[in-house]
Amino acid sequence: MKAGAGAGAAAVMAGVALAPQDASAASLTQAQRDAMTPDQVIEMMKKGNARFRAGKPQAHDYLAQKRSSASGQFPAAVILSCIDSRAPAEIILDTGIGDTFNGRIAGNISNNDLLGSMEFACAAAGAKVVLVMGHTACGAVAGAIDNVELGHLTGLLNVIKPAVEATKYSGERSGKNAAFVDAVARTNVLQTVESIRKNSPILAGLEKEGKIKIVGSMYDLSNGMLTFLA
Ligand SMILES: [Zn+2]
Repeated sequence: MKAGAGAGAAAVMAGVALAPQDASAASLTQAQRDAMTPDQVIEMMKKGNARFRAGKPQAHDYLAQKRSSASGQFPAAVILSCIDSRAPAEIILDTGIGDTFNGRIAGNISNNDLLGSMEFACAAAGAKVVLVMGHTACGAVAGAIDNVELGHLTGLLNVIKPAVEATKYSGERSGKNAAFVDAVARTNVLQTVESIRKNSPILAGLEKEGKIKIVGSMYDLSNGMLTFLA
């Protein structure tokens, strides 16, 4: 990416650099990241997920990405996702070293420390999207539904419980019912998005200015699809 390229060209190049035929020899440059709108970053993530689902990820040259990002990072997004071993955001979205910040916590909830991390990512480091990513068959969500109590996990699950109450569902409301667990996980994502807006004036302000977007999504463990929620 040449430093002198115009913003439009940079946006095009950003798309090209993230295309599957590219060897992805470098992380996002500041020019590439800054030229993208929040919607273009979301589009980039959707395309990455499509490549993952198709079994055609980029040929990541992680050592080249490590070299190019060591002196500075310009991630396009910050992702708040669950610790679940089956939902690694970088692989699901086919991104490389330096492309996204990642916060992971059981049940993809938010709290003051995560808000601080996301505020750093967007207000200090220039990320354009906050992506909250829930997933199907989430053990933390099932635990919240079933009132599991275990050490420090108890308090964490309490943060998810309002989503259990708020989920309208006519069938069996138990952690054994996969459909109900997934419905609550979806509600939990939406509530996390709203709590970020409510509890972080910095992020809410950036979103109002159009500089970032805060969006929710659900990852399906079975088919690999990441669905963005309205
Ligand atoms: Zn989970």
